[in-house]
Amino acid sequence: MSPVSHHIPEDIIEAYASGALPHGFSVVVATHLSLCDSCRAVAEACDALGGVALESLGAEAAGMTPDRALREKTLALLDAPRAVPEDPKPMGIFPAAVAAELGAKGPAWRSIGAGIRQQILVDGREGSARLLSIPGGKAVPDHGHNGLEMTLVLQGSFHDVTGRYARGDVQVVTDDLEHTPTADPGPDCICLAATDAPLRFSAMIPRLLQRYFRI
Ligand SMILES: [Zn+2]
Repeated sequence: MSPVSHHIPEDIIEAYASGALPHGFSVVVATHLSLCDSCRAVAEACDALGGVALESLGAEAAGMTPDRALREKTLALLDAPRAVPEDPKPMGIFPAAVAAELGAKGPAWRSIGAGIRQQILVDGREGSARLLSIPGGKAVPDHGHNGLEMTLVLQGSFHDVTGRYARGDVQVVTDDLEHTPTADPGPDCICLAATDAPLRFSAMIPRLLQRYFRI
């Protein structure tokens, strides 16, 4: 596993562990955890703490209700493996969390201009997650943000004013950053990007395209 140098902030990992993150961001966090030992250790610590809190909550509830069986049933359910529709497996460069969203067919890329391609994975009221493929050396048009954007690199690398990002690295940006991510020369830079609000492109034409492509 190559070393990861840009990690997920701890408060986002905590939100993920408690199940509070919108699905699109959860896919990014789950993908990063599968590529990063240190963030996975943080998530496991959160899970352990959450389990202890739930058990003590259960004990309190058991003191208040005569139905001890209910508490035991609840705890047994918590211990049971979580139901997942299928056992997701990694697929090429796509770790299991991305492969689960893609399905068996893999990405159906759609061109969004300038050689950039995308595949939407999650699109809902809470936000979206998509795969983006940017040819080596190409830039994504200047844009700002209305909310939180998390971008994880799966192949190749990109850079902007904040640094350079390679496989496993996550860039987390909020309202205050206006940036031009540019793919480094070499293979297409393939990223998993999640947002909780539509991006705000600076130029007119990308803004029109935005409506069409639901970026
Ligand atoms: Zn990490």
